[in-house]
Amino acid sequence: MNFPNTNDYTRVTEFKHLTAQKHHKTTIAFEYSELYDKEKNEPYYPIPQEKNNELYLKYKAEVDKLDGKVYFVGRLADYKYYNMDQTIGVALQLFEKKIANQ
Ligand SMILES: Cc1cc2nc3c(=O)[nH]c(=O)nc-3n(C[C@H](O)[C@H](O)[C@H](O)COP(=O)(O)OP(=O)(O)OC[C@H]3O[C@@H](n4cnc5c(N)ncnc54)[C@H](O)[C@@H]3O)c2cc1C
Repeated sequence: MNFPNTNDYTRVTEFKHLTAQKHHKTTIAFEYSELYDKEKNEPYYPIPQEKNNELYLKYKAEVDKLDGKVYFVGRLADYKYYNMDQTIGVALQLFEKKIANQ
């Protein structure tokens, strides 16, 4: 369940509901938002701003020079916010287009 406004935590997950597991005990995770601090944590979300997009294009230009020898895929590679299903979809598309036919 998401709690975007009213609590300190933003989401609670009770994992046995994901798998429909029946058990008398349970595991619950609480997620808390925190500010990015270079010394303490990692920046998780792409921030679509002109400055960041320009930087992304510089990295992409370097990647393109590798001429298909290395594949970059996923959220950092495309600098886009993906959910898990999109991440997997992009990886499968790459595999179908480039790797499966080699
Ligand atoms: C707080 C949060 C909640 C989320 N909740 C959901 C959800 O409920 N449902 C959902 O579908 N999706 C959710 N997502 C999104 C999901 O986590 C991402 O879509 C998925 O993890 C993206 O996979 P990825 O492989 O592209 O990137 P990542 O999982 O970010 O993997 C990138 C990897 O590269 C590594 N790395 C970075 N830089 C370097 C480097 N220079 N050298 C070597 N390795 C490096 C990182 O350490 C990391 O392990 C959530 C994301 C966050 C942050």
